[in-house]
Formats: sequence, structure tokens, C-alpha cells
Amino acid sequence: MNAEILCVGTELLHGDIVNTNAQYISKKLAEIAIDVHYQTVVGDNPDRIKKCFGIGFSRADIVICTGGLGPTQDDITKEALAEYFNIEMVYDENSFQHVKEMYSRFRKDFPKNNIRQAYFPEGSIILDNPNGTANACIYNGEDSKGNIKIGILLPGPPKEMGPLVDNEVVPYLKQFSDQVVYGEKLVVVNIGESAAEEMILDIIEKQTNPTIAPYASAGKVIFRITAKAESKEKCIEMIQPVKEELINRFGKSNAYVTETGKVEDKTAELLMEKNITIAVAESCTGGLVASRLIGYPGISKVFREGFITYSNEAKMHTLQVNRETLEKFGAVSEETAKEMAYGAAKIAGTDIGVSTTGVAGPGGGTEEKPVGLVYVCVYYKDKFNVLKIQATGSREIVRERASTSVLDLIRSSIENN
Ligand code: ATP
Ligand code: MG
Repeated sequence: MNAEILCVGTELLHGDIVNTNAQYISKKLAEIAIDVHYQTVVGDNPDRIKKCFGIGFSRADIVICTGGLGPTQDDITKEALAEYFNIEMVYDENSFQHVKEMYSRFRKDFPKNNIRQAYFPEGSIILDNPNGTANACIYNGEDSKGNIKIGILLPGPPKEMGPLVDNEVVPYLKQFSDQVVYGEKLVVVNIGESAAEEMILDIIEKQTNPTIAPYASAGKVIFRITAKAESKEKCIEMIQPVKEELINRFGKSNAYVTETGKVEDKTAELLMEKNITIAVAESCTGGLVASRLIGYPGISKVFREGFITYSNEAKMHTLQVNRETLEKFGAVSEETAKEMAYGAAKIAGTDIGVSTTGVAGPGGGTEEKPVGLVYVCVYYKDKFNVLKIQATGSREIVRERASTSVLDLIRSSIENN
């Protein structure tokens, strides 16, 4: 079975909102091995919506549509589906009670129009929407040649659509797929994207199941290893040897697996496992490092304090960086990075002190210290590990890259100690 996703909304076409519904649904279908061949976006125009159902069902077994379940006249996806299958719209008392109940909950008068939300294509499976007025539906029908065609209509608001997909649509569609897709993320650091790809090109080329797909982001490359099999356990079994071979190629200190692909997860895990306390002093990353660590649940066990010391004064006052160091070497220097990391650890009384200082740009660069130059430092067990980074890209990318690098430097500093 394959599917097409049809998202209805003029605001999507105008670029006012991003089509996150399509992304969400595609991802969920991929997990149950239902291929999505097309994603379509159409405005709130009845004729065009009807056309899209026709085209959708001519090339896909399943059409999942979001939006247009509201009470107004331009909300017509249910009518369009009924027309395609040549069936009537019928009243559903439960859905009517649901709409009424939702309105009384918000202490709003019940507008007459909303009765439209209680009508569905005859024979639909109606899906209760606990997060909004409009119930959703699944219609399992046939085209003129007798092929199974399934239409699924979901509300537009992502907070309503998401739970319906998770709790109703995915369990329903699983019956049409006897396979699952499962992937793991291998994080590779210290090696650039093309170099990393080249190191394993022979493996990538001969691999069909699991597949290996690289994608780079600031400061790391992620290889997603994805298997398709009859169960998740079988997928994990198939991924294992591939994962081991890749880690061997890249070296254990440069590659590891995390569920999310986030460098900070591995670092946080390690800090917590070994009960190593930490404080961070940030200049150009302005709290990103602290924020990324604090995103990990349970980190309060080891994370003590974060200092955002953006000015030289703050670096001196708060972290006791020496004035002479700043004058002689500048704020963006190895020496300042070291004193910041040391200051953070001493003042917070932690095992590890971490720092970032750099030129995030777009202005402020010089020949000697160009935009993108960042020093990051980890102070641990009387040793300083400093990394000089020359990042390229926007201010955002430079900051992201610096935070990723220092988060990984924390990991390697602990592992290599
Ligand atoms: P309502 O009862 O709110 O009118 P609806 O089912 O008719 O619901 P729409 O009117 O199409 O849905 O969309 C409602 C809101 O949901 C949009 O204004 C938008 O904020 C959000 N939304 C709709 N479609 C998408 C989408 N594809 N991706 C992300 N957000 C969306
Ligand atoms: Mg609407």
C-alpha cells in the first residue's frame, strides 16, 4: 500500500504557515513501511480540492487529507470525499454531542453552522477528536475498478491532527503493512561530511537493507541506519553489525549512537552516569550550551550553573578572568577560554568547567580573528582541553557549531581521562 498526503489550506500556499502536518504524517507512515509517493497542497477551493482527491486516488491507495473539517462553507473535504466515492453524507449523533460538549466546555454559544461537523460520508469510521470540535474519519472504499481506496480526513490544527495520527490512523493502517521500519542514528564528530562519507562509501554502496543515509549539521554528521523487517527486534538485529563496522571505521572516539542524534544526550548521559558536576561559561553561544544540556531530563543531578559573560567586564567580574589576559590576547583567544572554563569550575565548585568565546558575526571580524573563529575549552582534573574552531556560515550556524563542539569536547575529555 502507498499513500498520498493532501494538505488543504490557502495559508499553506501563501507561505504563511509551514506544512508541518505533511512532515509529521510522512514520518509516521515511514515507520510502518507505508510509502508516501506524493505530498500535495491545495487551497480552500472546492473544485480544486475535488480534483486533488481524483488525482490522489488515481495514483495512491491511501489519501490522507488534513484541514477543512471546520464548520464554515469553505470546509468541504468531507463532501469532496463523499462525492469521489459517490456516497451520501449522513448525520452522526455522537459527533453532534461532541461538538456541543466542546462548545459548552469553552462556554461559547453553539453556532448553527457547526452541525456540519456532525455529518460524514456514509459508512465512515468516525474518529473521536479529544482536542477539538471536529471529529475525523476514515473511509475504506473502492474505485471503479474494485481496488481498495482509503480516504482519511483529519483536522488541520497540528495539536488535533498529531494525536489522531498516533492513536487512530497508525494503528488502523498497520493492518495493511506487515513490516516496520526502524532506524538508529550514528553521530560522527571531528570528521567532515564528505570525508566521513568517503570513509564508508563502499559500505553505503553495497547496502540495501539496512540503508545508510548521511546528513550533516553544524559540528557533526549523522548517519541514519534504517532497516525494514517484520519486527523492531529484527531491525535492531540487522542494524547491529552495520553499526559496529561504521564505528570501527570512524574510531570509537569519533562515533557513537544516540536515539536522538543529539551530541548533548551522550554527554549528559556520561556526566550523570559518572556523577561529574559541571558549570558552563559562555560568551558567543550565549546560553546555548547550558540550554542544550538542560534539555536532558535529570541533568539537575550534575549541572550546577551557567554564566553568560558576554562583555570583558563580566568575564573579569564573574569568572575572574585576568585583565592582562584580555588585554594581551583578547577575549577571543585560547588563554581567555582557559581562564573562563577554570573560573566557571572554581566559582561553581564543579568537577568540570566549560567555556566558549568567539566571533559569531556577521560583523566584528578582523584579519587576525575572522568571523567564525571560536575557542572552546573544557577544564577537567587539572587539565585544559582547548579546541580552536573556524566555522563558516551565519551567526546562528557559528553558535550552533561552537556549542556542538564543546558539548562533544566534554565527552571526549571525560572518556580520555
Ligand atoms: P478549523 O476547525 O480550525 O477550521 P480545519 O480542520 O478546518 O480546522 P484548517 O482551517 O485547514 O483546519 O486549519 C486550521 C489551522 O490549522 C490553520 O490555520 C493552521 O494554523 C493549522 N494548519 C492547517 N493545516 C496545517 C498544516 N498542513 N501544517 C501545519 N499547520 C496547519
Ligand atoms: Mg477551517
